[in-house]
Amino acid sequence: MSKDELKDISLKLGRRNFLKLASIGAGIGATSMFASTNNVREATKEEIKNPFPGSKKVKTICSICSAGCGVVAEVQNGVWVRQDVAQDHPISEGSHCCKGIDQIDLVKSKQRVKHPLKKVDGKWQRISWKQAIEEISEKMLKLRAENGPDVAMFLGSAKFNLQQAFYFRKFAAMWGTNNIDHVARI
Ligand code: SF4
Repeated sequence: MSKDELKDISLKLGRRNFLKLASIGAGIGATSMFASTNNVREATKEEIKNPFPGSKKVKTICSICSAGCGVVAEVQNGVWVRQDVAQDHPISEGSHCCKGIDQIDLVKSKQRVKHPLKKVDGKWQRISWKQAIEEISEKMLKLRAENGPDVAMFLGSAKFNLQQAFYFRKFAAMWGTNNIDHVARI
């Protein structure tokens, strides 16, 4: 299909519906790819019936940016086990961007960093919070002593809530610089 034909379809459907269809298409493509490598199997009857017995669905919002798209978090015995989009959310209307679609992975990912790590001789080593804070603050203070407070630029996170943003701003002021901005600006 040509670019012009795609544009025409996109205009007729509207951006949100077009993106939904595009993601379904990508999903089908990915599913076919996995199926061809035997990495997927059919769900068992029990799994289809209810893979998480006794779970509750909790309406919440994606915390990654200030759009605040709706998320339905399925929770079983206090553990977040599955994520779905909130179809009736007034802002996101049943869709997410690629960051929010897998918010659950921020919690459950095996790659999630849960403690400070330091690279020593090319290998990551676990260190204590005390050691991490002391080493980082020593280096920061040395840089400031040698170059002045404007040596640093503070970039706030789109994940900050109001209180975190407040403390972050205070921290930059205490450090002595106005070099502070939001990460989205870069
Ligand atoms: S799903 Fe994407 S756009 Fe929506 S709040 Fe999360 S990061 Fe922001």
